[in-house]
Amino acid sequence: MAAKAPARLTVLSGPSGVGKGTVVAEVRRRHPDVWVSVSATTRRPRPGEVDGVHYHFVDAAEFDRLVATDGLLEWAEYAGNRYGTPAAPVRAQLAAGAPALLEIELQGARQVRARAPEAQLVFLAPPSWAELVSRLAGRGSEPAEVQEARLAIAQAELDAAGEFDVVVVNDDVARAADELVGLLTAPSPGLVPGE
Ligand code: ADP
Ligand code: 5GP
Repeated sequence: MAAKAPARLTVLSGPSGVGKGTVVAEVRRRHPDVWVSVSATTRRPRPGEVDGVHYHFVDAAEFDRLVATDGLLEWAEYAGNRYGTPAAPVRAQLAAGAPALLEIELQGARQVRARAPEAQLVFLAPPSWAELVSRLAGRGSEPAEVQEARLAIAQAELDAAGEFDVVVVNDDVARAADELVGLLTAPSPGLVPGE
């Protein structure tokens, strides 16, 4: 009997400013059927961000409650705010046999690997360090000291690329989005067709 590929959990990670949000938005634009997890965060919304669409914006007490009730698949503190993946929607998606995509930072990607070793970890890399610095500055969404904090974290995050299953270079948004979509639905390595 042909093996049915299990629904796959894919994690997209990479340094702040590399273009994770941009690439995921492009994936959604081209493939509205691709399911992307909406994280909870204690960060304040940026202009244009919509509660329940870009993030679930919660206060510290609500985030504490999510952690205490084991409501998060993973969570991490990043540049002074907390971010986490609500577990139930991801489980429901995978149980329904459909792929799920998480866009999270490195500590969270490591937690997913520990809890779900079958998950596919994709690292989005910048074409160069100079390009990463200029993208983060060009976004203009954070004051200089926050940009500095994010760049310091980014340096450590780049060093972790080797822990990931696949590296996608974000040289061109459309190309990187296509490559990511291909990975979402590709059969898991190690699954032998026909077994
Ligand atoms: P992240 O979600 O990883 O923090 P963003 O998606 O916010 O990063 O992108 C950071 C900045 O880089 C944005 O201004 C975005 O428009 C720009 N950007 C993203 N991808 C590319 C690309 N392939 N080429 C040029 N600029 C890009
Ligand atoms: P931003 O504040 O720029 O939206 O996100 C900051 C960082 O938090 C990014 O690297 C983003 O990928 C990450 N992030 C967003 N949601 C989550 C989440 O649910 N869990 C973890 N661990 N990181 C997240």
